[in-house]
Formats: sequence, structure tokens, C-alpha cells
Amino acid sequence: MASVAVIGGGPAGLIAAEKLAQAGISVTVYDRKPSLARKFLMAGRGGLNLTHSEDLATFMARYGAAEKKLTAYINAFTPTALREWCEGLGEPVFVGSSGRVFPKSMKASPLLRAWQLRLAKLGVEFRLQRDWRGWNGAGALVFINAEGAEETPTPDATLLALGGASWPRLGSDGSWTKYLTDKNIAISPLRPSNCGFTVQWSDIFRAKYAGQPVKPVALSFNGQRIAGEAMLTNNGIEGGAVYALSSSLREAIAEQGSTQLQIDLKPGLEQAELSNRLTESRRGRSLSNFLRQEASLSPAAIGLLQENQSAKNMAAAELAALIKSFPLTLTGTFDIDRAISSAGGIAWDEVDENLMLKRLTGVFAAGEMLDWEAPTGGYLLQACFSTGVAAAEGISLFLNNK
Ligand SMILES: Cc1cc2nc3c(=O)[nH]c(=O)nc-3n(C[C@H](O)[C@H](O)[C@H](O)COP(=O)(O)OP(=O)(O)OC[C@H]3O[C@@H](n4cnc5c(N)ncnc54)[C@H](O)[C@@H]3O)c2cc1C
Repeated sequence: MASVAVIGGGPAGLIAAEKLAQAGISVTVYDRKPSLARKFLMAGRGGLNLTHSEDLATFMARYGAAEKKLTAYINAFTPTALREWCEGLGEPVFVGSSGRVFPKSMKASPLLRAWQLRLAKLGVEFRLQRDWRGWNGAGALVFINAEGAEETPTPDATLLALGGASWPRLGSDGSWTKYLTDKNIAISPLRPSNCGFTVQWSDIFRAKYAGQPVKPVALSFNGQRIAGEAMLTNNGIEGGAVYALSSSLREAIAEQGSTQLQIDLKPGLEQAELSNRLTESRRGRSLSNFLRQEASLSPAAIGLLQENQSAKNMAAAELAALIKSFPLTLTGTFDIDRAISSAGGIAWDEVDENLMLKRLTGVFAAGEMLDWEAPTGGYLLQACFSTGVAAAEGISLFLNNK
């Protein structure tokens, strides 16, 4: 029986293991951690947004530059297929008000338990606490096990599903890049995606507002406007609306050193109406009281406005304009350790249409280690599952033609 090593027991690796085992192939999953799919479990803490229910054309556009590359894989294992797969494991799903799809349990753990059981029944073997270190001179895979000893299996094909570099304590730290770079495989540097951004707050602001949400807001950048909420932190700003713009913000900062985000601190009110309200006399009220009473702004929003020294002397129209388009200078991204996902990865030119590395016959790649990024909303897991399925099909074809 043909044998396949799947390296990386996250969603991309495990779905590939399932498809391969169903095709009658002997599969061993290796992972450096003592248990599988830790990032998937962490995603479950936020409800496990598996995929999205919007039409496929809109869905695909979320992948930006990688849309063309991912289309065939997602067409072959669609958001509907992913929902059915989840339900097939005994976890019914529902569509939230935003169109996002979640398991009804809002957790990853029951799904993962059922999945592991299915994999075990299919005969998939697991070798945990195996840290992959590339290949030896004879072309065997090299793992270091928990005892520090080397294991050097020589499977008929290999799937690399080692993830990106965000939240490294969950297992994926991007250390695989050096083993592939050694083989002359081009890799776009792993960068934070769906991340927060640094802001140089004043000490007073930081002490008062770090940890507070600012909501509702609408953030604008480069012609994109995202409604939602943001969280003020010790050294910057993060949260759903920020993550949604993170790719273009990150690139602008990389080019110019810093960039400006526009925040609408009163998205529910037209500027003219707001300006009208602010023509009320302040009658000795502080700016803070005046804005709270006349514009119902949250303390954090008022704090932001007060960071602008001249706000207190502004006339109504000018103040309304500032509230509707507050400029915030972002100076950098938060560290990749805190990002939801990574941008970058194995360059698309390095893999064929079956996701086999052109320079390494019999070695395939799937999941977040490929060069794509997407906002939150279920697009991350969908692409991991779809490329995992595609790589499994590619491996089956490869083994059949061997
Ligand atoms: C807090 C958080 C919340 C998230 N929520 C969502 C969500 O709701 N919806 C969504 O779509 N996405 C979400 N994501 C993103 C999603 O979890 C990832 O995109 C996805 O898990 C990536 O899957 P993967 O299989 O490619 O890699 P991973 O899940 O990272 O799995 C890779 C595996 O490879 C192993 N590994 C790495 N290097 C080695 C090595 N050298 N040797 C051996 N093993 C190794 C790791 O231990 C790991 O188990 C979230 C991420 C985070 C951090």
C-alpha cells in the first residue's frame, strides 16, 4: 500500500489525511505538538467561523491577489461542501446574521473529537511530538521526537501542512521556511494578517483608555469602509474592523513607514445633522461633557478627539468633520505572534495545479503555508480545507501514476 506522510495536524493536514485514507492510502500524520489542531481549537473559542454563506463570486473576491489561484480548489470543495462535511461529523451548522457559518455548538472541540475518531477508524496513524527538520542527504524526512532522537521515514509522498507563523505557541511558527529556502523554493515572507496596528498614544490617553472598545465606528482606508468596532490597546488599535483593513494598511506602512486610518466615530449620523447638534451652546460645559450630551459619543471616542489639541476650540462644523473622519496615524503592525493569520508563504509559481512543489517531486503543500491571505469571516479555514482536499487529490493522482 502506498504511504503518505502528512506533516502538520491542523485543518489542512487532517482533511487531506481523511481524503487520502478514504482512497485506501496509508497515512501517517506528524505534528510537533502533543495534541492535534491547537489553532483550530483556538479558533473555536471565538465560535469557530467555518466559512461564509455569501455567493461564491463575492466569497472568492475576499482572497484578493490569490483569488485566481484559489478558485479551482474552492470550486472543488465549496463552502457548501464544508458545511456538509461538518454536519456529517454530527455538528449541525447555522448561518449567523452576518452570513458567517458556525457549528451550532460554537466550538471546535466536539467537531475535532468526532473527526479524530473518524480518522482513527480510517486507519490514519498519528506521530505527535515530532518536530520536522527538513530532509537528510538521502532524501528522507527528518523528525526529532520527544526523546530528542531522530526519525527518518521515507514515504511515497509527503504533504506539508505546517501553517503560518501567527500564535506560534499553538504550533506553527514558520520554522519550515528555512528547509524550503534551502531547496531554492521561493517564499514570500510571512507577515501579520488580521492584526492590530501600533499608534503613538499620549501617556494620559494610554492610562485612561487602553482596553476600552470604541464602538460603533466605521473605519475607512483606500476607498474601503468597514463598520464594526475597534479595541484600544496599550500600544495601538485592534479588533474586527481593523483586521478587515489590515492587508492594505500593512502594505501602506511597509511602503511609507506609517499611514493614516480615518475613523467615523458617529457612523449612525450624517455630518450635517451632527454639526447641527454641535451648534448648541457649550454653556461652560467641558468638551467631554458637551460631546457626551449632544452627540452621545462613548468615553473612548471622546478620548480620541481630545488627543487632537485643537478640538476644544473648534466650531461646530469643524468638530463634526473631525468626528466623522478622525485621522489616526498607524506606525506599524502588531507582532505576528498576536495576529490571527499570516500573509505570505510558498510562492504560487513553486507549485503545480495539484499543489505539488515543482522542485520536489512527490512533496505537496496546503493550508496557510501557501501564499494567500484573507479577512476573518470563515475565509481562512475554507481555503485551508479546500487546499487540503486538492492536495490529497493531487497526491492520489501522483501515486496512481507512479
Ligand atoms: C485566535 C484565532 C482565531 C481564529 N479564528 C478563525 C475563525 O473563526 N475562522 C477561520 O476561518 N479562521 C480562523 N483562524 C485561522 C485558522 O485557525 C488558521 O488559518 C488555520 O488553522 C490554518 O490551518 P493550517 O492547517 O494551514 O495550519 P495550522 O492550523 O497552523 O496547523 C499546522 C500544524 O503544523 C504543526 N507544525 C508546524 N511546524 C511544525 C514542524 N516543524 N514540525 C511538526 N509540526 C509542525 C503545528 O503544530 C500545527 O498543528 C483563527 C486563528 C487564530 C489564531
